[in-house]
Amino acid sequence: MKIAMLARNAKLYSHQRLKEAAETRGHELEIIDTLRCYMNIASRRPEVYYNGEKLTGFDAVIPRIGASVTFYGMAVLRQFEMMGVYPLNESVAIGRSRDKLRSMQLMARDGIGLPVTTFAHDPKQTEEVLRLAGGAPIVIKLLEGTQGIGVVLADSDRSAKSVVEAFRGAGVNIMLQEFIKEAGGTDIRAIVIGGKVVAAMKRTGAEGDFRSNLHRGGSAQVVKLSSEERATAVRAAKSLGLNVCGVDMLRSNHGPVIMEVNSSPGLEGVEKATGLDIAGKIIEYMEKHAKSGATRTKGS
Ligand code: ADP
Ligand code: GLU
Repeated sequence: MKIAMLARNAKLYSHQRLKEAAETRGHELEIIDTLRCYMNIASRRPEVYYNGEKLTGFDAVIPRIGASVTFYGMAVLRQFEMMGVYPLNESVAIGRSRDKLRSMQLMARDGIGLPVTTFAHDPKQTEEVLRLAGGAPIVIKLLEGTQGIGVVLADSDRSAKSVVEAFRGAGVNIMLQEFIKEAGGTDIRAIVIGGKVVAAMKRTGAEGDFRSNLHRGGSAQVVKLSSEERATAVRAAKSLGLNVCGVDMLRSNHGPVIMEVNSSPGLEGVEKATGLDIAGKIIEYMEKHAKSGATRTKGS
């Protein structure tokens, strides 16, 4: 196969590993800087250009589109889809996962376990949404947050209200969420490929932090999932339509609840914690499914 990987930083561990895994299996993989692609949206003749040349002959594309370039990255990916190049994850599915409210609504519709989550646009409804979410202690998070930045735990209703006001004052969208205390600062990341959990790790936050993000100083260990946890991760991936993803869950006393589903899961933490070749499994999945000229959505 000739594979294009849309990524901003070619040197990242995950990107290097995917390139290496593809080449080991005899494929060609070109890393393309998403933001340097430009497009010609001509009728019936979609094209993508890069460094003065038209990109042609690709069988598959691996989107590794960071949260900060979602808008442009999805447009570039749609263009590849319209050209008939097989996308590892479809643009539509990535769009669903990037919108926290949309993804939670889809998973709720499918009956997947979620923490009680409330959201309002009008600050006048703060007290009401706080009450609906069960009151303090409560987690307040930025809709556009990543890596645990913009996730706050408020111990009292009073502090919750001031945090909400501060966020609103800054003009950002937030949601309120039941605090899953029993998770004890630990979350589970399951890597799902083609409807199967291929690896899982447990991440524990830095001492005194309720957030388990590795970027916030957390540490990772291999973990064995229960069949309910595996089923939840697989259903979450299916609900959003992602072929490959990282599903973050908390162990709550009402079963596994989804935190978020990541369409470009980092490979370093999970490969190091489990010793598994996840990049290789991703390429193997593509070998089985990439049929050039046969994308299902064509970017719609
Ligand atoms: P981000 O997308 O920025 O990583 P998350 O919503 O995944 O934000 O939250 C980061 C971490 O904070 C989670 O991995 C989890 O450890 C902790 N956390 C988030 N929401 C809750 C919650 N409702 N209850 C308990 N812990 C939470
Ligand atoms: N690589 C990060 C993770 O898996 C986030 C990537 C993204 O925002 O898509 O946690």
